[in-house]
Amino acid sequence: VFIAVEGGDGAGKGGLIAAIVGRLGALGRTVTATREPGGTPEGEALRGLLLAETGAVWDARSELLLMTAARVQHVERVIRPALAQGEIVVSDRYVGSTIAYQGAGRGLSQAFIRGLHRDAVGDLWPDLTVFLDVEPVVGIGRSKRRLDAGAIDEGRFEGLDLAFHARVRESYLDQARTLGEKAVVIDAARTPAEVQAAAISAIGRSIGV
Ligand code: C5P
Repeated sequence: VFIAVEGGDGAGKGGLIAAIVGRLGALGRTVTATREPGGTPEGEALRGLLLAETGAVWDARSELLLMTAARVQHVERVIRPALAQGEIVVSDRYVGSTIAYQGAGRGLSQAFIRGLHRDAVGDLWPDLTVFLDVEPVVGIGRSKRRLDAGAIDEGRFEGLDLAFHARVRESYLDQARTLGEKAVVIDAARTPAEVQAAAISAIGRSIGV
């Protein structure tokens, strides 16, 4: 079973994933928790190129191809083997992020992104995507506080405007509508305990745990 957790910057994906992994583990399921961009040594190296202060300014198409290169490694080396072993895979971001950030955010077409996903990655889609919905102004505020506290790397949110993050959010909500029962949207403004309970009950309904 393949679960992706998506959400804007500062939505609280990290804490939620830890709770999901803890709950599934307590139920005796074997869980692989992983993340994008990253999840393999090669993917983490690409993450460093994409996110760190290397001074690199990627063209949107280059960014898409690097994200996709990292995803191919991730799917072939981590996700497919774990699924083949019957494990539950929980990924912090997946192709939904690419549709939202490189698509809605940076203006690349859905046809290009989805076609690349089909041809390069191999048409592997999550069984369930948990969308953690956060208002951009709230999420960016949270991210900035964690950045100031030294808890996270700079990431990408600095220098990107609210309109960009609003497009990302709209894309996520739109994806959730299209995915129907394969998606759940949870309001990230609720307490962590409420967010976790909502996610775990959606996972239970979807995969029968
Ligand atoms: O999820 P996490 O906070 O680790 O993501 C790191 C950064 O990568 C975020 O700031 C996000 O904006 C950016 N990102 C992106 N395009 C993607 C995935 C992540 O711009 N496809």
